[in-house]
Amino acid sequence: MLRDCRDRRRNFVRGLPARFSRFRMFAAVPALVVLLAGALSSGCRHSEEPVSREELGLFDTLIEIRAYGKNAKKAVNQAFDEFRRLHNLLNAYDPNSEISKVNSNAGRAPVKVSSDTLEVVDRALYFARISGGAFDPTVLPLAKLWNVGAENPRVPEEEDIRNALALVDYRKVLVDRENSTIFLEVPGMGLDLGAIAKGYAVDKAVSVLRKNGVNSFLINAGGNVYVSGKKPGETLWRVGITDPLADPSGTETYLGIFTGTDISVVSSGDYQRYFEVNGVRYHHILDPKTGYPAKNLKGTTVIGVSSTDCDGLSTTLFVVGVDKGKEILSAFPGVGAIFVKADGSIEMTPNLKDKVKLER
Ligand code: AMP
Ligand code: MG
Repeated sequence: MLRDCRDRRRNFVRGLPARFSRFRMFAAVPALVVLLAGALSSGCRHSEEPVSREELGLFDTLIEIRAYGKNAKKAVNQAFDEFRRLHNLLNAYDPNSEISKVNSNAGRAPVKVSSDTLEVVDRALYFARISGGAFDPTVLPLAKLWNVGAENPRVPEEEDIRNALALVDYRKVLVDRENSTIFLEVPGMGLDLGAIAKGYAVDKAVSVLRKNGVNSFLINAGGNVYVSGKKPGETLWRVGITDPLADPSGTETYLGIFTGTDISVVSSGDYQRYFEVNGVRYHHILDPKTGYPAKNLKGTTVIGVSSTDCDGLSTTLFVVGVDKGKEILSAFPGVGAIFVKADGSIEMTPNLKDKVKLER
């Protein structure tokens, strides 16, 4: 029996148009929810209404921005333009994107790219190096084979997995900073930036909002949240972190609630996109060592200033597990993480003790 779980959570993006279902960067379950009511009130509640805009499809998720203050409307519109611009550059499933041009020239020629594409690929390769390839942005041939989250996901044949894995190797991506080019050495290789591009886009959108003098806002892009400043008349933002063990058809229950501001909260998990065959869950985060979905954990949440790094790290930690994950985190001072292990138990880094209240 095959069960396809692209859209499990009530009240969230029901019945997505079919054209969205092919995109790899789409996350159907809201991993994080910014709690708008009941943030820590400091007494008088301001009546100022935020500018609020939502759009479905960019980075294949529902992106929401709420911003307060003068200039907010213009700033929010510009931030969405920035999301769209980066989506069009970085989406491996759009044949016209820069990344697709790099992919279609694999084994043939280096491709000149924008500074944004160069920067994201460079950072992705950094995470690949520090994780010994557990994070690997050349995972595209394998991701296409599994097709999780798209039409007709299936468990591939062993031989197909072996063939796809032969094309997954971050060491065969040549970045030439001087000439702004990227070259994939082997025909058939392909970059998939789904694990980091959304974080980069959130950082860029944050810059756009702040350049417009807007400092009180939230961005919620699926598993990537950024909260900035304070809501008028209130103090800090609260972000509910979805529990990978929660019943998706039930009411919202959270693993924990983060309270803070000027920070990014990013989650990865086996509950975001998956299908099941005979009770076995196959999800979208793949282990390049085995070619199968990573088994160490059920979920990770990473909290820190850079959304790009939190995105890269949440995927990396998900693949490597708790011990190696903590070792990797030690190179990121000020960044904290929550791990949900395969048995459902939780481990949180001590630096989050005062920021995250665990709910179980
Ligand atoms: P995230 O939701 O940020 O953890 O990213 C998951 C997405 O990253 C998947 O949908 C794939 O597009 C891609 N991906 C899957 N496995 C890996 C991996 N081991 N390293 C890098 N990217 C991956
Ligand atoms: Mg990620």
